[in-house]
Amino acid sequence: MSPAKSHVPAALRKRVAQQSRYRCGYCLRSEELMGMTMTLDHIIPEAAGGLTVQENLWLACRRCNEFKGTQTHAYDPQTGDRVALFNPRWQAWNEHFAWSGDGTEILGLTACGRATVIALQMNNSEIVVTRRLWVSAGWWPPQE
Ligand SMILES: [Zn+2]
Repeated sequence: MSPAKSHVPAALRKRVAQQSRYRCGYCLRSEELMGMTMTLDHIIPEAAGGLTVQENLWLACRRCNEFKGTQTHAYDPQTGDRVALFNPRWQAWNEHFAWSGDGTEILGLTACGRATVIALQMNNSEIVVTRRLWVSAGWWPPQE
């Protein structure tokens, strides 16, 4: 069970959704591809003292949000360093991640990117199969 989540006022949710361009800040998939509303991610989780304020909120898909859970840091598989997870509000996706040549996997370009890919299981077999279908349909990867 997830811990109780703070209520987010509708106006704040709408503002954050617009800022996020209605897509997940981590894996970039859109609400259209999900067929459902995104969750609001507390970038610093509430369990770690993160507040329900615009500066600490961004959209995330349910996959990324659930795998992220209460984590704030993770280990870079290349250096073994423990680093802060990617912050979709303040960091640029393209500086930390890139798509594999076939568009199905997210590559971490930095310690932060690599740690986040692992922590959020951004390339587990389920989502890679799904992305392969999207690629074959011409819907993926997203054009930045
Ligand atoms: Zn996602």
